[in-house]
Amino acid sequence: MKDIKLKHQRGKPLEISIKGQKIGHGHYTMISGPCTIENYEDLYAVAMELKKMGIHFFRGGAYKMRTSPYNFQGLGKKGLEYMKKVADETSMISVSEVVAVEDIEMIREYVDILQVGTRNMSNYRLLFNLGKVKNPIILKRGFSSTIEEWLLAAEHIIEAGNPNVILCERGIRTFETYTRYTLDISAIPAIKDLSNLPIIVDPSHSSGRREMIKSLSWAAIAAGADGLLIETHFSPDKAICDSKQTIDLEILKDIINGNKKLLKLWNRD
Ligand code: PEP
Ligand code: MN
Repeated sequence: MKDIKLKHQRGKPLEISIKGQKIGHGHYTMISGPCTIENYEDLYAVAMELKKMGIHFFRGGAYKMRTSPYNFQGLGKKGLEYMKKVADETSMISVSEVVAVEDIEMIREYVDILQVGTRNMSNYRLLFNLGKVKNPIILKRGFSSTIEEWLLAAEHIIEAGNPNVILCERGIRTFETYTRYTLDISAIPAIKDLSNLPIIVDPSHSSGRREMIKSLSWAAIAAGADGLLIETHFSPDKAICDSKQTIDLEILKDIINGNKKLLKLWNRD
């Protein structure tokens, strides 16, 4: 594995700068918000609450990759318009998923950081085209992909011209069914060993269970993750997408307070 052929991802840890914030190289990044954008008012309200907690990055899906075609597929362009309006009004940095090559240019007009979902990690044409833009890219690990395949997926984006890749461990498929996926904590020190890219962790999609988000978040920070991506909602039970894994703002506050202590283990803040 050590001889995995990476032309990039070498040298000192990558630091990504965006709108005055830094990601990677000792900086800790918290990204939070609803699974899907439901309407403007709720997105604005949740972003304002996150901002009050000192969070600079908010997320929301406009194009959802749902397993079932009968589930809500996202607000599409309307959702992106809300995203941009909220980012402008709160001076926050927005994150949303891009699912198709033909959407890249349009999404870039509305969103700061583009996310590649687990189901698209091996969509190499999408990755190549994301290499042609400047936005930071959050590359989620394919739920059946090895660490090597994931790093090579990142290599596709970087080799095509965009060095600003953030890896996101979001759980892999194992024989366990109690959780939605299995969070691969060992991926964090492995990535630190093999790559200079920042790695963040998504405890929401990996567990699928609200009651586990705090433990898994703390475990990820203790293991050296550069940040977290967590689904939150004012009324998690009413969230129209991924409600069971969505936490409320009080739990998020607890997580952030705990993180402050854990980051000291790594001499970070
Ligand atoms: C998401 O973060 O909105 C998402 C769908 O995640 P994943 O691609 O990891 O399932
Ligand atoms: Mn979700």
